[in-house]
Amino acid sequence: MATNRGSVKGESQGPSIVIIGGGFGGLHAAKALANEAVDVTLIDRKNHHTFQPLLYQVALGVLSPGEIAACLRHILRRSRNVHTILGEVTGFDTTSRRVQLLDGAEIAYDYLILAAGARHAYFGHDEWENDAPGLKTIEDAVEIRSRLLRAFETAERRAYLAGHQARLNFAVIGGGPTGVELAGAIADLARLALAKDFKAIDTTKARVQLYEGSPRVLGSYSENSSRKAKQQLEQLGVEVHTDSMVTAVEHGRIKVRDQWIESDVTLWTTGVHPSPLAKQLGAPTDRAGRVLIEQDLSVPGHREIFAIGDMSTLTDARGTLVPGLAAAALQEGQVAAENILRDLRGNARRSFIYQDRGILATVGHHRAVAQFGHWVLSGLMAWLLWSWVHIFLLISFRNRVAVMSQWIWAYLTRQGSAPLITEHQQREVYLERAQEPSTPPGNRGMDKHGLNPGQVVRR
Ligand SMILES: Cc1cc2nc3c(=O)[nH]c(=O)nc-3n(C[C@H](O)[C@H](O)[C@H](O)COP(=O)(O)OP(=O)(O)OC[C@H]3O[C@@H](n4cnc5c(N)ncnc54)[C@H](O)[C@@H]3O)c2cc1C
Repeated sequence: MATNRGSVKGESQGPSIVIIGGGFGGLHAAKALANEAVDVTLIDRKNHHTFQPLLYQVALGVLSPGEIAACLRHILRRSRNVHTILGEVTGFDTTSRRVQLLDGAEIAYDYLILAAGARHAYFGHDEWENDAPGLKTIEDAVEIRSRLLRAFETAERRAYLAGHQARLNFAVIGGGPTGVELAGAIADLARLALAKDFKAIDTTKARVQLYEGSPRVLGSYSENSSRKAKQQLEQLGVEVHTDSMVTAVEHGRIKVRDQWIESDVTLWTTGVHPSPLAKQLGAPTDRAGRVLIEQDLSVPGHREIFAIGDMSTLTDARGTLVPGLAAAALQEGQVAAENILRDLRGNARRSFIYQDRGILATVGHHRAVAQFGHWVLSGLMAWLLWSWVHIFLLISFRNRVAVMSQWIWAYLTRQGSAPLITEHQQREVYLERAQEPSTPPGNRGMDKHGLNPGQVVRR
């Protein structure tokens, strides 16, 4: 039996189960193994669990990061057999059954649960990421919030100092749930939340464009849901372009088919690239690189290794392709844990069956689409349902109370709680001018905002 520990409070002597990743899959596996006769080590490179479905609200300044994240150690404080380790896993040796960390440490396991998630894929163009960031972590959300707010600040500064008005352009690439939520929320930010705060520019004139390569947005939802989501986006003023494949991304512009389009802020929400740890298993994968797992969620040829959540893929015993959703990762975490306990008790493992409890996506301030089988609900009722479900699913009571009060505040005032740019990020707004060449006024052409870079004009 593998053992890793020196002197630890409340030691148990059970088999060693190592879980990589404290996201939806890993955290719920750890919870399902809590206080059982096993030693659990949960390793994550962050010290917190992130509630990804609400990341876009951090990106839009509606919520603060701490309201959608919770410290893993704190969540698991009552699980006396679960030890939380902050560390980045770089690989594993499946023969000696050891996990390797970036700092050279090794952790032995009897069972391994891999739940390291996925990031966005740039279809072989990783160089686009800098100009079109994706939304996956708290850091991504804060960076996106800063880019959005900086775009408004820069336009205001230019309008006030140079007297020139230019329309802001925002491009969201990918018409899945995250793209739809971001596009709707940016439109609301421009139309409602910021409209009275900016005096030199008219934020309501900002253009929000959503580009989707396939014929409809929310492609994994029913056609009815897609149609309703598109209608609601258009009511918010979002320009929805379907069948519009983005073929290049550069600073300040994107190419759609063969036409270049200006974009002050570009956001990327499409494609899936599973954790690089998936490849290291040497197991069969799908085209995206997700591990093709067995019905009991184990990796082919390794009954002691489970791969769950966004880094794996499975068509379950009922023929349903398990979706890349929090609910699916959570259910897989629970079943992987259950199958380990079944092994230890000498019982047969169970096959995973995905329980579909419906899918929801918001479209702006108080609109949403909710789909339960063939039944589709949209508008305010769907949004209320979406709000209730997300409050309920948040990991801690503190987060639930904080988010609920922020939403009530935002609903009544139409203001977010955290439209802030950090010191380092705001320096980029005013340093932008300092870095411009000091050629005398009149010698240089104006930029697209009408600002002569060498000129300081005060009205
Ligand atoms: C913006 C956004 C919105 C979403 N909205 C919804 C929604 O509304 N509804 C829904 O059901 N789903 C939604 N999803 C999908 C859902 O969040 C994912 O399906 C779910 O998080 C997958 O869970 P997971 O455990 O596989 O991975 P994750 O939750 O991503 O967790 C992976 C964990 O592994 C850790 N990790 C990764 N690599 C390493 C390493 N090498 N070493 C140590 N730790 C590592 C990470 O830090 C992370 O904590 C959304 C996703 C995003 C990005």
